[in-house]
Amino acid sequence: MTAFRFDKVVLPPEVEIVREEVRDFLADNRTLMQPMPMGFSPEFSRAMAAQGWIAMTWPKQYGGHERSALERYVVLEEMLAAGAPVGAHWVADRQSGPNILRFGTDFQRDWYLPRIAAGELFFCIGMSEPNSGSDLAATRTRATKVQGGYLVNGSKLWTSNAHRATHMILFCRMAGSGDEIDRRSGGTQFLVDMKSPGIDIRPVHNLLGEHHFNEVFLTDLFVPDDGLLGQEGNGWKQVSSELAFERSGPERFLCTFRLLVELVRVAGPTPEPEVALAIGRLTAHLSTLRRMSLSIASMLERDENSNLEAAMVKDLGTTFDQQVPETARLLFGSEPELHALDAYTSTLARTMMHAPRFSIQGGTREILRGIIARGLGLR
Ligand SMILES: Cc1cc2nc3c(=O)[nH]c(=O)nc-3n(C[C@H](O)[C@H](O)[C@H](O)COP(=O)(O)OP(=O)(O)OC[C@H]3O[C@@H](n4cnc5c(N)ncnc54)[C@H](O)[C@@H]3O)c2cc1C
Repeated sequence: MTAFRFDKVVLPPEVEIVREEVRDFLADNRTLMQPMPMGFSPEFSRAMAAQGWIAMTWPKQYGGHERSALERYVVLEEMLAAGAPVGAHWVADRQSGPNILRFGTDFQRDWYLPRIAAGELFFCIGMSEPNSGSDLAATRTRATKVQGGYLVNGSKLWTSNAHRATHMILFCRMAGSGDEIDRRSGGTQFLVDMKSPGIDIRPVHNLLGEHHFNEVFLTDLFVPDDGLLGQEGNGWKQVSSELAFERSGPERFLCTFRLLVELVRVAGPTPEPEVALAIGRLTAHLSTLRRMSLSIASMLERDENSNLEAAMVKDLGTTFDQQVPETARLLFGSEPELHALDAYTSTLARTMMHAPRFSIQGGTREILRGIIARGLGLR
């Protein structure tokens, strides 16, 4: 049986200097803050890049800043807690860039990483397909080797920001692979320029009627040889290494922080006992989640495998993020209303409409619990 490891992490004093710098920056950009983080703003991303807050942990040789994972963590949590529009560079900074650093060629590192660090390249993730979301091994998009590159055919679904990203990190499989014996064989990743001919992006609107994700059709898309990331057939391993980055960060439990702040504001300085109890419970959960997530940040810095712990943080974190709007709704009995002038009511409405996605994106609750059960030796 594998034991979970959540070592205690004490934030060193220097990170508090970074925190103050971020807070000053956020105060200067107060008008750009939103009820939920992850708005897509290339301008804001470039302003963050200018501060050295993208690619913080990467080598300076590639445009990075060689800061610690904990310094990066503090920047992320301050941005998320404020509702900053960090969505444009988020994927590239969190997972595509680190994967290029780990598996990319010298050319790919030299070309992509400094541009990501400067807030010029924005990535989307092309993994899910119709009938292949949780079960990535069912991927049907195929790459065929041709002279000078690959021809890719298939389609992707739920691709967040495909219509705004400059590049996609695409997961597909080599033609002729993925048999009954080894369904994972042939998985391959490519770095794709979204302006390439053969890419057709169609919007899928979310519950709010907003255009966030897409269906992406790939028809005879030509990817040159230098777009292959890592090795042909190694895609499964490469994707798995991405998931710990994707699942353990503070975005897994700070999506609803603005609503929690509103809840405290509406409760006032002398809340009713049941209100104080509910807020206290949420705050205690948040504090525990933060410590667990910080612990993974330090494991990632030491290059230790934390997939199991990351699954745990994502499951508990998204459960928390779904609990916040539910508690807020029950406590004050106010009807959520998207366009209400009162910040509490409108933030509640927006958060409720987003809440179902928390336990789906980045791995569903059932899949995460399956991983956790396997780690505990229960299956
Ligand atoms: C807001 C949002 C943004 C997204 N952005 C992206 C993106 O940018 N790129 C991308 O590639 N994908 C993205 N996704 C897709 C997301 O990764 C998938 O929706 C998710 O992996 C689930 O896949 P699915 O929708 O095909 O559901 P399915 O896999 O069909 O699952 C349906 C239900 O069955 C359950 N289930 C499936 N298999 C099992 C099992 N083995 N055991 C127990 N229960 C099981 C699931 O938990 C779920 O409840 C996004 C999704 C959302 C909601």
